[in-house]
Amino acid sequence: MLAGAFLLFAFAAGNDVGTLRIASLHPLLSDMARRLGGEQVEVVDLFPETGDLHEFSPTGESVASAAGSRLLLACGKGVEPYLDSLRQAMGSGVRVVELGADIPDVMVPDSNVVDPHWWNSPANMKRASIVLADALKTLLPQDISEIERRQADYEQSMDTLSRVAALKLSRIPLPKRTLVTSHAAMCHFCAEFRMRPLAAQGVARESGGDTARVAQLLKELRAAGVPTLFAEWREAPQYLEHLAEQVGARVERICMDGVALGIPDYEGMFLRNLQAICNGLAGCGSGERNERAQSK
Ligand SMILES: [Zn+2]
Repeated sequence: MLAGAFLLFAFAAGNDVGTLRIASLHPLLSDMARRLGGEQVEVVDLFPETGDLHEFSPTGESVASAAGSRLLLACGKGVEPYLDSLRQAMGSGVRVVELGADIPDVMVPDSNVVDPHWWNSPANMKRASIVLADALKTLLPQDISEIERRQADYEQSMDTLSRVAALKLSRIPLPKRTLVTSHAAMCHFCAEFRMRPLAAQGVARESGGDTARVAQLLKELRAAGVPTLFAEWREAPQYLEHLAEQVGARVERICMDGVALGIPDYEGMFLRNLQAICNGLAGCGSGERNERAQSK
C-alpha cells in the first residue's frame, strides 16, 4: 500500500519557489522546524493529532500528503521502527534527519533498554536544534544568517527552561526526587534534573500487571514515599491508580510522548509538565505531601 505513495512522495512536483517543504514524524520536531525555518519552510505533519507514538506508522495517504518534501524529520532512537523502509522507498530526493540520533543514550533503570523519549530534556532539544539548523542551512544557503539567529533564540529558550526547571526541582530534597511514571518516558528528564525515574510499565507500556512486578513496584513506591504517580495525559490509568491506591498516592497526568492536543509548542508542554510534577511532588519545596505520604 505504501509503495505507490512513496513513489508519489519521491517524484511529486516541487513546492513554491524559495520555500522548503519539510515532512515531520513528530509534532515537537514540526514545532522546532517552524521556529528555525520561519517563512522559508512549510512543514507537513505526518503524525496525526490523535495518534499514539508507540503504535503509529505512516499510511499511504499521510505519506502522499508530504509530496515534494526535501527533508524528513524523525526522532530516531528507535521511535520510528518503520524508518528504514520509509527511507529506502523515498529514494535520494529526500534527506532523512534523525534529530535524536546523536543525543547521548539514557538507559531505563534495571533494564538494557534505552529510553527513546529524549525530547523531555530541554538540553537535548537544544542539541537537536543545532542538527536541524545545519540541515536547514544546507538546503537554504541564502537564509543562513536568519536560521542561525532563530537557532540562537531557540537555544536561549531551551536554556531558560533548563534553568527554571533545575531551580524548581532543586527545592525537592534529593532523596525524595523520584519521578514515578506509567511508561518509561522520563529518563532523559530525570538525567538532566537529577531525579530518579521509576516506571510502572516498559517503554511502550509492554509490561506491568504480573504479580511479581506489582509486588516489587509497591515495595519501591513505599520506599520512595512518593505522593503522586504520573500517567500519560490521555491514557486510561487504571493500573497506575491501582498502585497509587495501595500506597496512599494519587495520579496526575503529564504529556510524556510529546503528542497532545491543545499544546501549542515545546515550552507550553514542558512548563505544564513541570508544574504538574512540582505540584505533585511536594510543591517543589513545601515537603508537605511527601511528609504526609511518608507517615502512612
Ligand atoms: Zn512513550
